[in-house]
Amino acid sequence: MHVLVLGAGQLARMMSLAGAPLNIEISAYDVDSGNIVHPLTQSVIGNGLHNAIERADVITAEFEHIAHDILAICQQSGKFLPSADAIKAGGDRRLEKALLDKAGVRNANYYVITSRQDFDDAIEHVGLPMVLKSALGGYDGKGQWRLKQRDQIEAIWHEMEQCIAATDTQAIVAEEFVTFDREVSLVGARGKDGSVAVYPLAENVHTNGVLTLSTAIADTELQQQAKQMFTAVANSLEYVGVLALEFFDVDGTLLVNEIAPRVHNSGHWTQQGAETCQFENHLRAVCGLPLGSTKLIRSTAMINILGEDTLPPQVLAIGGCHIHWYGKEKRAGRKMGHINVCGDYNGELQRKLCQLAQILDKHAFPAVHEFAANFSE
Ligand code: AMP
Repeated sequence: MHVLVLGAGQLARMMSLAGAPLNIEISAYDVDSGNIVHPLTQSVIGNGLHNAIERADVITAEFEHIAHDILAICQQSGKFLPSADAIKAGGDRRLEKALLDKAGVRNANYYVITSRQDFDDAIEHVGLPMVLKSALGGYDGKGQWRLKQRDQIEAIWHEMEQCIAATDTQAIVAEEFVTFDREVSLVGARGKDGSVAVYPLAENVHTNGVLTLSTAIADTELQQQAKQMFTAVANSLEYVGVLALEFFDVDGTLLVNEIAPRVHNSGHWTQQGAETCQFENHLRAVCGLPLGSTKLIRSTAMINILGEDTLPPQVLAIGGCHIHWYGKEKRAGRKMGHINVCGDYNGELQRKLCQLAQILDKHAFPAVHEFAANFSE
């Protein structure tokens, strides 16, 4: 089986690693250069979307910000899963909100802005404080504004106006500011036969809008809510593959923040912590194979490595610590790799996170240090 992934980053790389034992071969299409590359070595093995499609049995994607003409060509081939519509919904906050509403899934109150009049209406409709997010192209907290007081309106409008004018299709989605207790996410898979298998929820810590620490948690009540919302969204898209839902937990009630129609950073812990990892399950789903068990096999957390290309070797001396590098060139803030940390039970995992805080740099790994500081209190 040959799977073509749109996008040649770390997610395609990890799909390649997970596909090998199943004899599923991955090639990656770099949408910027038009090259077909080997997802592990990045060596160029071909060129052109049509060539890439011809060689593939199945086409999938590792990110959602993909030009619509590329999606249309892939969809037309009849090989593309989850579907162009699912990818578009993940890449456009207007479509995402409409999808959540259609699926009957709770999300923050919102209003779409393309003009100054809309902005005034949004302030009326949504109220302050609010979060303003560009409909297209924003991720990891980029392309966002926080409007807290009325005296910020003009300055924020000035910036938003430029953002809207930059392309024909851009808009801003104004969202009520949600005062949440924590952020959690659910990663799961839906098969071609409509079967659904979800992983345990992950509790996520973001630093400056970027995920820094993700820990698998057991919470029966929240898990039930999340699974019901996941199934509603996945069924509504007739989704095939791995899908992630990010939530705000507000006093035990979940609100969807956003969806990711792909394998997700908050599911990387499944490589060591679940019976079948998210990358294998995505490939199983899109290749029409039975889904693997999503069962938690040990307490696991994932730490993102941002902007660093080396780690103290002592990390590997801690039992249950696994480093995954992405083979990328070092750049400030860039996702360079992650560490999965496992313990036989929660207490052991927590102890290992505290041990890591003693080894890892405070500025590069703030979430681990924050965890250790709270733990010792
Ligand atoms: P996003 O790019 O939508 O995931 O937003 C990045 C981060 O901003 C989220 O992980 C939240 O911490 C925060 N955030 C996003 N939307 C809201 C909201 N409506 N209310 C409060 N915080 C938000």
